[in-house]
Amino acid sequence: MSHIEITGARENNLKNISLKIPKRQITVFTGVSGSGKSSIVFDTIAAESQRQLNETFSTFVRNRLPKYGQPDADHIGNLSTAVIIGQQRIGGNSRSTVGTITDISSLLRLLYSRVGTPPAGYSNAFSFNDPAGMCPECEGVGRTMALDLARALDRSRSLDEGAILLPGFGVGTWYWKTYAQSGLFDNDRPLEDYTQAEWDMFLRGSGSKVFFETRGGTVPQKYEGLIDKFDRLYINRDLAESSKRDTVLAFVSSRPCPLCGGTRLNQAALACRIDGRNIAELSAMEVRHLIDVIAAIDAPVAATMVPALLSRLRHLVTIGLGYLSLDRPTLTLSGGESQRIKMVKHLGSSLTDMTYILDEPTIGLHPRDVTNMNALLRELRDKGNTVLVVEHDRDVIDIADHVVDVGPRAGTHGGEIVYEGGVEGLYRADTLTGRHMRHNRPLKTEFRRPAGELTVTGATVHNLKDVTVSFPAGVLTVVTGVAGSGKSSLVNEAFLAAHPEAVVIDQSAVGTSIRSTPATYTGLMDEIRKLFAAANGVSPALFSFNSKGACPECQGLGVIHTDLAFMDGVTSVCEVCRGRRFREEVLRHTLRGRSVSDVLEMTMGEAAGFFTEPKPRGVLRAVNEVGLGYLKLGQPLSSLSGGECQRIKLAGELHKKGSVYVMDEPTTGLHMSDVEHLLTITDNLVNAGNTVIVIEHNLDVIKSADWIVDLGPDGGDRGGTVVFEGTPRQLLELTGSFTAEHLRRDLD
Ligand code: ADP
Ligand code: ADP
Ligand code: ZN
Ligand code: ZN
Repeated sequence: MSHIEITGARENNLKNISLKIPKRQITVFTGVSGSGKSSIVFDTIAAESQRQLNETFSTFVRNRLPKYGQPDADHIGNLSTAVIIGQQRIGGNSRSTVGTITDISSLLRLLYSRVGTPPAGYSNAFSFNDPAGMCPECEGVGRTMALDLARALDRSRSLDEGAILLPGFGVGTWYWKTYAQSGLFDNDRPLEDYTQAEWDMFLRGSGSKVFFETRGGTVPQKYEGLIDKFDRLYINRDLAESSKRDTVLAFVSSRPCPLCGGTRLNQAALACRIDGRNIAELSAMEVRHLIDVIAAIDAPVAATMVPALLSRLRHLVTIGLGYLSLDRPTLTLSGGESQRIKMVKHLGSSLTDMTYILDEPTIGLHPRDVTNMNALLRELRDKGNTVLVVEHDRDVIDIADHVVDVGPRAGTHGGEIVYEGGVEGLYRADTLTGRHMRHNRPLKTEFRRPAGELTVTGATVHNLKDVTVSFPAGVLTVVTGVAGSGKSSLVNEAFLAAHPEAVVIDQSAVGTSIRSTPATYTGLMDEIRKLFAAANGVSPALFSFNSKGACPECQGLGVIHTDLAFMDGVTSVCEVCRGRRFREEVLRHTLRGRSVSDVLEMTMGEAAGFFTEPKPRGVLRAVNEVGLGYLKLGQPLSSLSGGECQRIKLAGELHKKGSVYVMDEPTTGLHMSDVEHLLTITDNLVNAGNTVIVIEHNLDVIKSADWIVDLGPDGGDRGGTVVFEGTPRQLLELTGSFTAEHLRRDLD
């Protein structure tokens, strides 16, 4: 059978839709954010695939897996196993690196065990995750913890003045006496005046017996230097379990392991070389340079290994990650980088007939690299897989074999398929996506004049090469450059360090309580409570989820969560309030005929028509302006995507003046028509006297900038410099910039 078939799908906002998705092809799902793309791809297709997969396990295993309910659909047929390549960061483990996660490190180890001299053993002798290869000092972590003397001591003080700042070492304590009454030091002399010999004795001295007075008499004690004592008491114990952990960690610094120099490997592994280089040196090279080194290896025993290694390394370069090194910890990768790394892993796999699901794989990618990523999507398809991509990028939509356009708009106004078919047809379709595919935004002609400047001086974070740059105040600045060129290092680290008052509007989650909703987050709930209270002559507190007015059964949640032994809990609608969250008597109080529960069921757009009072209208106007009119007032905040979180934060900032805003890829998750919306919002922010700095690859945003700071010329060690500062019009004239090149191509 050649199609995945879905009939009568009704998850979230889907309106009983049916569709056929061709197998072994690339299908791109388009539509404004909130139209229902994820409801189809993740909540219906991926959920059903996962559920079917779980059915194949024994009950024992199944009970230990997360539970997937049957998606709300009449029929889903002809699915193959779905693999979601999402943007979740990889691994929470300090031992996971780019090399280990892509399996490239194991190939490299194999190579060293066959070709390297002198031989160190077989291939786990080169693994820092294996006792045979790991550095004995740091146990393969590459860093060691040590007492941070700068924090532990005040060298301007003497022992009697409390020079030791460590908790438990204060003047008069037992530990303090082991130094102050040792007779080895002058208790009135500041530490900074100690001789080298005294200093060494203080920190590292050992052996000599010292006697000191206690109430019980004279006690002999073996002297132990401060560092040794601290190591014995804390560092050499497993602190994970200790209640003192946080206190101790405040006085500990971590630094590269002195024995292995941070390479994590033992001396035998490091001594083994190929063409003069050891495995740690190769792992520290940028992948694109490593390729040349591997390609030059000329040994008959390596004949099959070298091509296998090169193929994987080239995939990393193709996907725009040639600036990474294999030893880079995965914990430090961005979401987009993590997703692309996962792609490389799957490209190396020999499985076929899988369904790969990708969520906006262009995140963090410069237009230059999108072309390369498209090649990888094709490669996945050509290996016999079905590729489903949720994407807004024109260049990716252009390579689709099949397009599913969801709409016409968001939330209750969406949930239908408005176009299905080839890309050529999409260009002619009378849908939001079709219209935006046809229409190309022109370059801005008038650029705002700066009202001052915000500078960063001599920045050297990560790959930045002593960068000094001025960001004009009171305008929209877009920071551009290929992935790895240093945009985040410049903006999120150097700029924010120099201008800590700037407001960061990112995509991190909002609201920590399970009772948080868009209404509570935006402050709308306070206004609603006051209005209900005034209309009914009662206390506003009655209309709070946390008050006596809340349903006592579900405590105002509207749902009951039941924990089940050995199984995932189940959530069901509260039977007492029937999901309405409040006591019956609270619901009898109405405002213009609606109960507080009715109001929470409204969307922001509907509420804007219901409220006439200025305060709630102001909040609702802002929320609607950022394109979130489809959110329900009482929807849990946890159901919001990263992009939606970013926009709801933005809503809270509208109508302020004189602030500096920093945003990292605000177009993530946004359809081309949502981008228009976002640009209107940033324009309004700037017109109101604010400064906005965004990191963006989206050409429509670049074309709307007043000022561009382009980093490059390439990623990693080939980046880290400012290649251009000026208006987009001036950028067009520039040669040698990838951004300029793509801007010219777009405007052609
Ligand atoms: P898209 O992927 O196109 O951005 P979604 O499928 O995520 O859209 O969302 C479609 C609609 O369903 C939106 O109105 C969204 O708010 C709603 N929705 C998504 N997930 C949930 C959920 N867990 N609970 C309630 N509503 C949801
Ligand atoms: P961009 O935002 O332009 O994609 P980044 O500022 O994230 O670029 O990265 C610039 C360079 O710094 C890259 O070579 C990247 O690998 C490196 N880098 C970024 N974050 C870290 C980190 N936490 N540890 C080590 N290197 C890093
Ligand atoms: Zn070590
Ligand atoms: Zn209830």
